[in-house]
Amino acid sequence: MDAGLKGITGDLFGALTKPASVDAKPPLIVPAKQHPFVSMEPQPGSTKPRLLLPAAKPAAAQPSRSAAPTRKLPAYYHRLSLRAQRVYLAGDAIDHFPLTASPAAFAMVAALMRALDGGAPSIVQRASQSLLNEVCRLLRMRPVRIEVRSVRPHNSRGELHGLFYPRAPVRAAAASGRSSAAPPAGEPLIVLWMRTAQRHDVVKPRTFLRTLMHELGHYLDYALLKLDDSYHSTGFYQRESFLMRTLCPAESPRPDRSD
Ligand SMILES: [Zn+2]
Repeated sequence: MDAGLKGITGDLFGALTKPASVDAKPPLIVPAKQHPFVSMEPQPGSTKPRLLLPAAKPAAAQPSRSAAPTRKLPAYYHRLSLRAQRVYLAGDAIDHFPLTASPAAFAMVAALMRALDGGAPSIVQRASQSLLNEVCRLLRMRPVRIEVRSVRPHNSRGELHGLFYPRAPVRAAAASGRSSAAPPAGEPLIVLWMRTAQRHDVVKPRTFLRTLMHELGHYLDYALLKLDDSYHSTGFYQRESFLMRTLCPAESPRPDRSD
């Protein structure tokens, strides 16, 4: 595994289980270390910086911390180094980001939903990038790049919905077939797939949006919260749900579609 892939986070959802309801904590993302496709987070003991971003952030961007309720810890927590455990607990204690949605952000969410209904990858990519740019602007962060690809990779255990690269490897950029639009290797990158593995249907728009917020959450863990690793802790899923509630607060249920 080359250095460029260290810290990569892949999000595999079970093949045989229906996706979680939109307001429930998604239970289907396997613990990172079990992911079959890629080297997974966390990388305990790694001292390499994940991102090269401005160290200073405005006071308004300081996250608030929850009241440290008792958490259920995953089995792998006890195998982490003490340093990694501290990182895990620090991330677990934060339940939201300092984000207030703008009218532009709501409009961009709506545009993304329409783009997914249309099914054109280039339009979905542009709509996704616009939304990420706006959310990052609101958080006073550097934008994170996204590549939207077609059919999800899969194996017998499920299909891959999204990936987050703290530092994009060269081949991830080249794999998109749009090298001119690819970020330079070393920059953070989100990759999302927009069609299901078996039937090649476009995924439900809200599922796509939640996966986008999930991968954005990994980026913000590193870039905004300055965590050394981005674990799938309870706090992580609370932050993901916060992003969904903030950006997509009252969407009426949509007709179900195979996903
Ligand atoms: Zn993840």
